[in-house]
Amino acid sequence: MFDELFDEVDEFFNAFDELKANRAFMGSSNKRTRLVAMKEGDHTYAHLERYFHTGWKHPNKPKPEVHRIFKVVFPEQSLQPFREYRTLIDSQLTSTTLKPLPGNESLMFHGTNRRCQIGDEKGNIMLCSLPECFLCSVLRGSYDIAKCGSKNRFKRFGTGIYTSSCSSKADDYVSNIASNSHYRVMLVNRVILGNPCIRKTNAIHLTEPPPGYHSVVGLPGADLNYEETVVYDNDAIRPAFLIVYSHEPEVKPEIHSKAMAFWTTLFSTPLAT
Ligand SMILES: [Zn+2]
Repeated sequence: MFDELFDEVDEFFNAFDELKANRAFMGSSNKRTRLVAMKEGDHTYAHLERYFHTGWKHPNKPKPEVHRIFKVVFPEQSLQPFREYRTLIDSQLTSTTLKPLPGNESLMFHGTNRRCQIGDEKGNIMLCSLPECFLCSVLRGSYDIAKCGSKNRFKRFGTGIYTSSCSSKADDYVSNIASNSHYRVMLVNRVILGNPCIRKTNAIHLTEPPPGYHSVVGLPGADLNYEETVVYDNDAIRPAFLIVYSHEPEVKPEIHSKAMAFWTTLFSTPLAT
């Protein structure tokens, strides 16, 4: 099931070398933003867009349009525990088939609540501090297992951090709360799968992977319709990209505002004088 992911994932991670160039950006502003807009012509952008569309599996959900993609830039002190975890897991992997990348690292989608409008425009990159904006919380400090279940009470594979290679499945969990934005946003994450325990049935009481495994991958067949992947350590995952998409064509602000000006003028003009 991971074959197509493996083919592309190498390309994706080349993007992270560029992040070193963003150190200055991180400096004093790292408390306020994590996002850097990617260029549409960027090779990695194209790969991510294709990965997002390939992962869109639900036949009843039309494929959305990708409007923009941001890199999520974390400070070194946050990435270091992730790298250490990856090295540790990698040292426990014996089969080379399990490690196309160190630690069997993969890219996985995750959808959550967004309370603000971060990502709606290229310049809208400031994190909010609204408690119900789970997206900004993840962008600020990555994932926290202690918060597992705050959005969805049902935990198919127990207490862990849930992602999927199926973007349309992650989309089920994306929601704009208290916002009329017509964009939706989804996180793409670097996830250390290690040796995944493949399951087709629920295991709701898990708090850690079964012995000898580092993650749980649920495959469709019995209890699931679409793939789900769970890790049980905060350092097994870091958000890497934010995809902004919608089912509608891009709204051009200048056209929109011209139209608004027209209607405003029309309705504020007395019909008879
Ligand atoms: Zn927010």
